[in-house]
Amino acid sequence: MVLTRSRSIKGIGAVAAGEDRKLIEPTEDPEKIGRAKYEAAPRSLHYEFGGPIGALGVTTAVPFFSYWLGNSCTASGCPPMPLDRYFSQGWQAMQTSSYWLGLWDTQAAYVYLGWYAWVVLAWYLLPGKWIDGGALRDGTKLTYKQNAFVTLLASIALWAGAVAVLGADSMLFVYDHWQGLVTASLVMSVAQAFFVHFQSFREDTMCAEGGNTGNALYDWFIGRALNPRIGSFDIKTFNEIRPGLILWLLLDLALAAKQYADIGRVTDSMVLVVLFHAVYVFDALYNEAAILTQMDITTDGFGFMLSVGDLTWVPFTYGLQAKYLAAFPKDLGYLGTAGVLAVNFLGYWIFRDSNGEKNDFRNGKNPKNLTSMKTKRGTALLTSGWWGLCRHPNYLGDLIMAVSWCLPTGFDTPLTYFYPVYFLILLVHRQMRDDHACAKKYGADWDRYVKLVPSRILPGVY
Ligand code: NDP
Repeated sequence: MVLTRSRSIKGIGAVAAGEDRKLIEPTEDPEKIGRAKYEAAPRSLHYEFGGPIGALGVTTAVPFFSYWLGNSCTASGCPPMPLDRYFSQGWQAMQTSSYWLGLWDTQAAYVYLGWYAWVVLAWYLLPGKWIDGGALRDGTKLTYKQNAFVTLLASIALWAGAVAVLGADSMLFVYDHWQGLVTASLVMSVAQAFFVHFQSFREDTMCAEGGNTGNALYDWFIGRALNPRIGSFDIKTFNEIRPGLILWLLLDLALAAKQYADIGRVTDSMVLVVLFHAVYVFDALYNEAAILTQMDITTDGFGFMLSVGDLTWVPFTYGLQAKYLAAFPKDLGYLGTAGVLAVNFLGYWIFRDSNGEKNDFRNGKNPKNLTSMKTKRGTALLTSGWWGLCRHPNYLGDLIMAVSWCLPTGFDTPLTYFYPVYFLILLVHRQMRDDHACAKKYGADWDRYVKLVPSRILPGVY
């Protein structure tokens, strides 16, 4: 049973106490919900992501690569073309003031702001169930509005309406103002990172255990507040699932429109790329509640790393294959299409089925009668099915899908394969962090599980 918390909780915006934050019943073991040890802002004792130097590196590298990838693979060239000419052209362009001045684009900034405002409004206006998140360190739970999927549908309808009124050519705005849109999203990411950082110093704000080192740059980057909110509007989950993911799909559609405008048709390769990305976005938003158990939500703070990842990195770099195909159309034919589809289905099957097995299991269901092992912590661990093959089968499926998104671009450039390479690094690092967290959560039981399931991501290899 869930009780409404009676005293107000400061520091989570103007949270109306009892409206979205609840106190769970004491269990026999108060340690289980951490209430006995609760401290709002415990001092973090170690750095991740290379500490302040790593934070500075990522803070610089993400904008740089977002612009660079945005400029790459346009009609004026894509590596290797040869490489030295490619880099010298880029370097020359960066030495001109018009390049730097061109990064700011007032029209694009208004369009981006309008987009962001729409998604916020949709969160507020569109209907959705309110559900509880997991128990926090102080024993309370936050509630979250679930209307991401209907926001996606409404956004596509709105986009289609705008195209019907303004004409198909209006979609070319995206291609022509790409760098300006990147800048606008970066400004939004920086602004939000500062907002949540300053907000996190309000009394009683629950900090992420890893986000309060006392080093301002690092804490701003990694995220000091665990669940920054404005009223019941949860800034972290909102950004994780809505503005960036939906925009990614809309940008893809605009890139397909650009190809159509240039060659009078949309190639099979472009259809596949857009379709694959669409499936991924639809899947994520349809399963919105699943993110509430992910470490980004349960453990990590919200700082520049997540804001820029959600708002700039995902929409403007994950669709690089579509950007390439807009400038360099490719035809795959029936055989090529079938081959690429097969790779994608394999990845999607592993990804969806393994995530489904775990979500069902964590929600008290076990339709496949999978075996599991009990732990002292109370939550059992699956030991058969996908989770008996390796400790992160969902990452494996995700990686196979990532490769299938690139195959339609062919092999003329390595650049379109940027995403799976980056994603491999991200997921290996994430697997290390998760294994470390599980070793801490489960103690000796985790060692037993690791003996039973020794592979991390690729059965028998890693
Ligand atoms: P996972 O869904 O892999 O969850 C890890 C947690 O699952 C562990 O902390 C543990 O938590 C639980 N768990 C581990 N082993 C078992 C087991 N054998 N049985 C039952 N539960 C177990 O975490 P992620 O959030 O990293 O990934 C979710 C999805 O999101 C993945 O498919 C991933 O590929 C994708 N993703 C995509 C990204 C992108 O940019 N496209 C970025 C990051 C992730 P506990 O025991 O406490 O429940």
